[in-house]
Amino acid sequence: MNRPGSRSALRPHLLLDVATGDLLPDRAVVIEDERIAGVVSAYDVPGDVPVLDLPGHTVLPGLIDCHAHLVGEEDSGHGYTELLTRTGAQEAMTGVRNARDTLRAGFTSVRDVGTYRAFVDVALRDAIDAGWTPGPRMMVAGAYVSCTGGGGDISGLAPDAERLVPAELRVGVVDSVDDVRRVVRRILYGGADLIKLIATGAVMSDNGNPGVPELTEDQIRAAVEEAALHDAHVAAHAHGAEGIKRAIRGGVRSVEHGSLMDDEGVAMMADSGTWLVADIYEGDYIAEIGRRDGWKDDVLRKNDETTDAQREMFEKCVKAGVRIAFGTDSGIYPHGWNARQLAYQVRHGQTALDAIRSATLHAAELMGWSDRVGRIEAGWYADLVAVPGDPTDDVRLLESIPFVMKGGEVVRDEL
Ligand SMILES: [Zn+2]
Repeated sequence: MNRPGSRSALRPHLLLDVATGDLLPDRAVVIEDERIAGVVSAYDVPGDVPVLDLPGHTVLPGLIDCHAHLVGEEDSGHGYTELLTRTGAQEAMTGVRNARDTLRAGFTSVRDVGTYRAFVDVALRDAIDAGWTPGPRMMVAGAYVSCTGGGGDISGLAPDAERLVPAELRVGVVDSVDDVRRVVRRILYGGADLIKLIATGAVMSDNGNPGVPELTEDQIRAAVEEAALHDAHVAAHAHGAEGIKRAIRGGVRSVEHGSLMDDEGVAMMADSGTWLVADIYEGDYIAEIGRRDGWKDDVLRKNDETTDAQREMFEKCVKAGVRIAFGTDSGIYPHGWNARQLAYQVRHGQTALDAIRSATLHAAELMGWSDRVGRIEAGWYADLVAVPGDPTDDVRLLESIPFVMKGGEVVRDEL
């Protein structure tokens, strides 16, 4: 933590204004405590303020991943029963490691969309905010809201072993509208910031298929209504076309994955302003590592069925003007590789600037954090990264960021 009243300044070669797309020379970012005090001419930094020069580097806002899972080991591709081999305490300690790796990669905020052990993400968020352990600012989901046996439940057990599953792995299991209202309240009272619904089957689960709806429209709407009472938004995991439409009509703020969305769904997304958070990188990771390491055939098949379809869907959404925020499903692939997805977004229809916006300006907007992160402006948190060159020309520069600052504190400096 910075000492109260401490001031410093960064003087990069260029400053990227993500709102306008301008690359500004001769600027300095003046930082006071954890916030940006102002952006001034490079020659107007007050004499008593220590300056860190970043020659040849471009400064931009710290990156934001809107679909992260910081709690837990990387997915083994062998189903959910492995979750029973780890305690909540072990899950928490993996979160400490994953949060550090994510921050050091330049991701200074994340929207964490779920943990199987309920509320471990709440504890991790609070530990980071208290300065006990390094990590990004976190907005957390607390637990998955899922139907019994669905994509967020613990599946793959022998039927007579089901009763052995610890209660904290099933906090969000619902089968009726009333269940949804009770569970959403419980999750928010438990300290979560948003609600994550599993609206269709999942790729990594033992049961179910991504195309199949797992919540009714009434259940989704009930979650949105209850969450709104607490100023919380709802993110819906939805691969299949029908589940996506239910989620949009139910009023969710974001559709996660979106893989099998049809043209009607694309038009509904654009008309309603529903955000798309599509993890279009990790399908390649699963296909490669999953085959090498012998992941379950069923998982590999479901991944193959969604990967290319999702990328085509993404291109259609870009063309249709759907609001897009960056989200990668970190935790499937190693934490810290998040930025690899930016080049995929460019390959599938976005400009590099728009891909960067999806992970700064637009991610902040989805999260409701537009007043604190995602821009370099007076009053915003001093969450900044620097790369050697112009990332709007080569977005892959963001895959290895040598300089990271969060809240005015340098957390990585390998210039
Ligand atoms: Zn996910």
